[in-house]
Amino acid sequence: ASPSSTRLDLDGNPIKPLTICMIGAGGFIGSHLCEKLMSETSHKVLALDVYSDKIKHLLEPESLPWNGRIHFHRLNIKNDSRLEGLIKMADLVINLAAICTPADYNTRPLDTIYSNFIDALPVVKYCSETNKRLIHFSTCEVYGKTIGSFLPKDSPLRQDPAYYLLKEDESPCIFGPIEKQRWSYACAKQLIERLVYAEGAENGLEFTIVRPFNWIGPRMDFIPGIDGPSEGVPRVLACFSNNLLRGEPLKLVDGGESQRTFVYIKDAIEAVLLMIENPARANGHIFNVGNPNNEVTVRQLAEMMTKVYSKVSGDQPPETPTIDVSSKEFYGEGYDDSDKRIPDMTIINKQLGWNPKTSLFDLLESTLTYQHRTYAEAIKKVIAQPNTS
Ligand code: NAD
Ligand code: UDP
Repeated sequence: ASPSSTRLDLDGNPIKPLTICMIGAGGFIGSHLCEKLMSETSHKVLALDVYSDKIKHLLEPESLPWNGRIHFHRLNIKNDSRLEGLIKMADLVINLAAICTPADYNTRPLDTIYSNFIDALPVVKYCSETNKRLIHFSTCEVYGKTIGSFLPKDSPLRQDPAYYLLKEDESPCIFGPIEKQRWSYACAKQLIERLVYAEGAENGLEFTIVRPFNWIGPRMDFIPGIDGPSEGVPRVLACFSNNLLRGEPLKLVDGGESQRTFVYIKDAIEAVLLMIENPARANGHIFNVGNPNNEVTVRQLAEMMTKVYSKVSGDQPPETPTIDVSSKEFYGEGYDDSDKRIPDMTIINKQLGWNPKTSLFDLLESTLTYQHRTYAEAIKKVIAQPNTS
C-alpha cells in the first residue's frame, strides 16, 4: 500500500483517493500542486492546460511511481467540448486557468476579462449541474486598494491595521477608475467569486475560493528570451531574476514604493492540499493564502534579491543595482498599482490550522538557486550570440 493510504484528515478520518480535474495544471501553481499530489497522496489528476512544459517531468517516463495517476489533456477551455466530460469524470474541480500577469491587464484588457470571468462560467455551471465540488482560484487583488491609501501620507492612522489588514469577511473591495485596467482583472475575479458564492447559496454548489497573495518560487512565469518572448513582461520575481541573470539593473516601477507580502509556493501548496482533503472545513469559505510576516516594498525586494543572488551565484552585484522607470514606460498607458497587501490569517488558521513557515530570505535563496541553475548557462549563450535566439 502507498503511504498515503494511511493518511488522515484534520478530524482523524481516513482520506479517500479522489479524481481531481485541474484546469490550468500546466501553470506555475498547477505544476507545484501536481507535484505535491503525485509525491505525497494517492489522488488522481486530470491535468488540463494548453501547455505542459512545467509538468512534463511528471508525465514521463513511464517508470515514475505515480505512472497512470496523472493524465494530461491539452485543451483550451474557451472552445473545447471535452471540458464537460472531464469535469463529469472528477470528484473535485480546481480552476487555476486565468490571465493573471499585470503587463496584460492594460495591454490585453479584453482577453483579461474574458479569461477571468467569461471562460470560467462553464466551469462553474458544469460543477453546479453535476454536483462537483469546486476550488476556484481568485486573487488578493479583489481587495483593491487599502482604506489607508486614501489617508494623508503622514496620517498616524496608516499604522493602524484597521486601515490596511485585508479580511475575507469584512474588508471592502476598492477599485480605481475604468481607464486603469488593472481593476478590470480585479473586477472580473470579483464577479466570478460572487457567482460561485451565489451558486452555493441558491443551488447548493460546494465551493472554496482561494485568494493567493503573491505566491512565488521556482517555475514562476518565464525568463524573457529564454523560455518566453524576449519582449514579454512577467511578474516581478521573473523580471528581477532576468535582470540579475543578465547582470542588468533591476527596474523599479514608479519608485518601487508599493508593498507586497510574498509567500513561498511550497508553503502555499500545503494550504491547498488541506482544502482538498478537508472539504467539511473548507466548503463555503473564502481563504486568504499569504505570509503576513514577509512584507517588503518592491525596492526592498530588489535589494534583497540582489544580495541573495550574489551569494548563490558567486557574482559581484552590479555597480548600479536598481534604476527607476515610470509605469507608463514599463507597462504602458493606464497602469495602476495596489499599494499594500497584508492578508488576515484568522479564517484559514481557524478552519485549517495553516500557517506559512518560510522567511522571505530563505524562499529567495532557494528560488534564486533554482533560477541560477536553470538559466545561467542559457543566458550566457544568448549574451555571447546577441543575434540568435
Ligand atoms: P499561470 O499563468 O502560471 O497559470 C495559469 C495556467 O492556466 C497557465 O498554464 C495557462 O496556460 C492556463 N490557462 C489559461 N487560460 C486557459 C484556457 N483558456 N484553457 C486552458 N488553460 C488555460 O498562473 P499561476 O500563478 O499559476 O496562477 C493560477 C491562478 O491563481 C490564477 O487564477 C491566478 O489569477 C491566481 N493567482 C495567482 C497568484 C500568484 O501569486 N501566483 C496571485 C493571485 C492570483
Ligand atoms: N515591478 C517592478 N519592476 C518590475 C516588475 C514589477 O517594480 O520589473 C512592480 C510592480 O509595479 C508591482 C510589483 O512589482 O508594484 C509586483 O508586481 P507583479 O507583476 O509581481 O504583480 P502584482 O503583485 O502587482 O499583481
